[in-house]
Amino acid sequence: MPHVAATIQSAIDLFPCGLVVTKRNERTIVAANQHFYDLCPLQPGSSASISAIFTNASRIMLESYVMPLLLSKQQCDEIQLSIEKENGERLPVLVNARITTEFPELIHWVITAAKQRDELYQELVNLRNHLEYKAEVFSNLARTDELTGLLNRRAFIENAEILIGDAQRQQRPYAFFMMDIDNFKAINDRYGHDVGDRVLRDIANIFKPNVRDTDTLARVGGEEFAIVAQVQSAEHAKAYAERLREAVSAESVAGIQVTISIGLATSKQHSLSQLFKHADKLLYAVKNTGKNQVMLTAL
Ligand code: GH3
Ligand code: MG
Ligand code: MG
Repeated sequence: MPHVAATIQSAIDLFPCGLVVTKRNERTIVAANQHFYDLCPLQPGSSASISAIFTNASRIMLESYVMPLLLSKQQCDEIQLSIEKENGERLPVLVNARITTEFPELIHWVITAAKQRDELYQELVNLRNHLEYKAEVFSNLARTDELTGLLNRRAFIENAEILIGDAQRQQRPYAFFMMDIDNFKAINDRYGHDVGDRVLRDIANIFKPNVRDTDTLARVGGEEFAIVAQVQSAEHAKAYAERLREAVSAESVAGIQVTISIGLATSKQHSLSQLFKHADKLLYAVKNTGKNQVMLTAL
């Protein structure tokens, strides 16, 4: 029979996975095939504990997760651990283990190299991260006005609805500012479209530092900007609008004196579209009474 035993041993050595039997308590190696020794830093015949082959992190995983699971359920499948080779190289492996009723004092382990699986998984993780990044870039692009870098109309509506919803729940007043550049067509006609674009960018840059982070500022049309903000009162909102109007008229934009008109509506209960309509109506009134002014309606 020794001949048969030797044949079985050499067949087991040829299996493309590490086969190991350890004692249940000390986890010292009782038997192992050749492939196991090819995977790990131990020499054939070693009676070290199986935990000696793993990296520190995997050893912690083995003691804190694998062993408790194995002792309670008698089995543990597809656990990913890392073997630390003699040269320090880390080899990802998949570990399955069993405690059988026939040999309750032993643990049977199957250890399979998972380098390719690990590389594939890492590739998928990288791809997913890349796609998440791209999705974020596209989502930002879809919400941004390319010329000024401000929010666009769509993002403005989304943010403004949230801001108004919050203010209504807290029963705080809020304001809608509709701001329109005066005589912008004449600027385009006189200086050209590129200068017109520069005026739009410069005006956006004048607004930015004058608007609080909690407010929503956007370019909502060609030469129209809007803000939704929580305010203390209609008077505060009016003063806020006057500050913006003065900030624009105080600067020469692209070498040109530019002014804006503002229609302003404040409320504690009106919807965004209602505020929009009221502010727009006031803006129309300002345009007919000389421009470069603020008109307010406290609803
Ligand atoms: P008002 O004082 O009554 O507001 O007159 P206005 O000339 O400012 O308004 P009007 O609506 O007559 O003209 C707006 C102009 O804005 C017309 C359009 O060509 C120009 N415009 C719209 N979008 C852009 C843009 O992105 N770049 C440039 N340069 N011009 C734009
Ligand atoms: Mg306009
Ligand atoms: Mg205009």
